[in-house]
Amino acid sequence: MTRHDLHCHSNVSDGTLTPAALVARAAERGTTMLALTDHDDTSGLAEARAAAAGHGLTLVDGVEISVTWRGYSLHVVGLDIEPGNAVLQEGLHMTREGRVERARKIALALDGLGYAGSFDGALQFAANPAMIGRAHFARFLVRGGMVRNAQSAFKRLLGAGAAAYVPHVWAQLDAAVGWIRASGGLAVLAHPGRYPLDDATMRELLSEFRELGGAAIEIVADSHRPQLYRKFCQHAQFYGFAASTGSDFHSPGESYFDLGAAPPLPSGCVPVWERFKRAG
Ligand code: AMP
Ligand code: MN
Ligand code: MN
Ligand code: MN
Repeated sequence: MTRHDLHCHSNVSDGTLTPAALVARAAERGTTMLALTDHDDTSGLAEARAAAAGHGLTLVDGVEISVTWRGYSLHVVGLDIEPGNAVLQEGLHMTREGRVERARKIALALDGLGYAGSFDGALQFAANPAMIGRAHFARFLVRGGMVRNAQSAFKRLLGAGAAAYVPHVWAQLDAAVGWIRASGGLAVLAHPGRYPLDDATMRELLSEFRELGGAAIEIVADSHRPQLYRKFCQHAQFYGFAASTGSDFHSPGESYFDLGAAPPLPSGCVPVWERFKRAG
């Protein structure tokens, strides 16, 4: 039996395991096809691929691109990409560029709220300093006993609209989909149920994503409860999207699903891996 997990993070972005340790953990837990989808950075894929060979696991080259659409932060996963593609790499490079400056602003805001030393503190948790992000700040705040857990760090301080939230403009949706397609990959709208969009706006997003050449949407995701599986399955059928599934695993004990532990796709939707050219 094939068990698919097409969304997870290593310490190249905001996960805590190295790509090799992530692949080993996924294999131990029965995952047979794994996509590593670090935020805006593909530099963990070579290590993951080398490790996958030793575990008999199929590694799918992936990435999760940070996008700003009508002021909302969205994530678009690229699957079965060609990481060496120059168009993709140039786009990811541009997307990463403002991250450190944004982290400095988050730290300033946290300073103002009485949480000192958070830039250096967050950096301690960022194996790849160029990818410093809110998850690293959350770990700093949790480990320092300043907040109870990551959920409360985001709710009180780091999440959209919270006290130390710093708005940021990421890649445009059309550009991100274009980079993924230029590299021969499939663009997948990540965890659509997580965005604070009303039904009409969700439909506008899905039809725009389809027109741009988006291939799939995540149906099974850590932030989706089973009633959302049905809703997004219907959306996928209506717009002609394939369906994806993934744990969005970041760290042992931190993530809702462990690697490979997300439930299988519901029947009636087309699994995205049936459309892979390279992997699968
Ligand atoms: P950034 O790319 O720096 O904006 O950080 C986004 C990341 O923060 C996501 O990919 C998650 O890893 C993490 N994150 C966002 N919201 C939450 C939350 N409510 N609880 C825990 N982690 C979160
Ligand atoms: Mn993340
Ligand atoms: Mn995401
Ligand atoms: Mn993710």
